[in-house]
Amino acid sequence: RRPFPRPSRQRIFAVANQKGGVGKTTTTVNLSAALAMHGIRVLVIDLDPQGNASTALGVEHRSGTPSIYEVLLGDRPLDEVIAQSGEAEGLFCAPATIDLAGAEIELVSMVAREGRLRRAIASLSHEVDYVFIDCPPSLGLLTVNALVAAKELLIPIQCEYYALEGLGQLLRNVDLVQAHLNQELRLSTILLTMYDSRTRLADQVVQEVKDHFGDRVLGTTIPRNVRLAEAPSYGQSALTYDPVSRGSLSYLAAARELAERGVETPNGAGGNR
Ligand code: ADP
Ligand code: MG
Repeated sequence: RRPFPRPSRQRIFAVANQKGGVGKTTTTVNLSAALAMHGIRVLVIDLDPQGNASTALGVEHRSGTPSIYEVLLGDRPLDEVIAQSGEAEGLFCAPATIDLAGAEIELVSMVAREGRLRRAIASLSHEVDYVFIDCPPSLGLLTVNALVAAKELLIPIQCEYYALEGLGQLLRNVDLVQAHLNQELRLSTILLTMYDSRTRLADQVVQEVKDHFGDRVLGTTIPRNVRLAEAPSYGQSALTYDPVSRGSLSYLAAARELAERGVETPNGAGGNR
């Protein structure tokens, strides 16, 4: 395996889209596994109370397990909740338990409520090249914490009819976060997911998204592939479950692209659109 290039400074991605089922978790898990299998040290932060990323990475996340919930509430440092994933030597996960469902409300009355994840990552002593934050399907305080902590935003977009609908709301939140809480945040990456080559509609969506977002869209599009959906129930990424499936190969190609793009944002330091 030819190693992927390592970034000169840590890259922190929020993987967000307030729509559910667009491939946020599948993208987080499989990009992370692909990078880690190629010599890159990766931390996945599961910020969805459902804990699907933790499951797919084979990491314990029963209620009561030390998790990102306690980190956000200030009861534990991030280092203490990080578990090693069996997927690859350099792959780690800060799991989410169902307790996190309460955090959205509990955080409201706390000081510096939007910057809690950012502070936790800043004090991390684990040395990792990439951090991926798997966001819940909402624009609440958990997602805001991810946007404040991140340097880059990765939006998975499902190749279906209403693909762009609802994105305006996410992008307005990104503008607000940039203006008030995190100037560094850039929408660097769009990944098209669940592409079905049998429909003409899918091609139209791909074209529409590329017209809209230009070279922020990765050249690799992720096909609809049942292996990607099966892998989590084995506590594995698709790259481990079936490394030669089309799904795995496409995430591998996307991960290579991401690594080769490095930290530079296409189009310089412009806005989001
Ligand atoms: P999100 O995190 O945005 O809610 P998921 O990654 O959990 O989305 O994906 C939603 C569902 O679709 C899951 O059951 C997942 O296994 C499945 N899935 C995701 N990507 C693909 C794909 N490319 N092909 C087939 N199934 C997929
Ligand atoms: Mg998810």
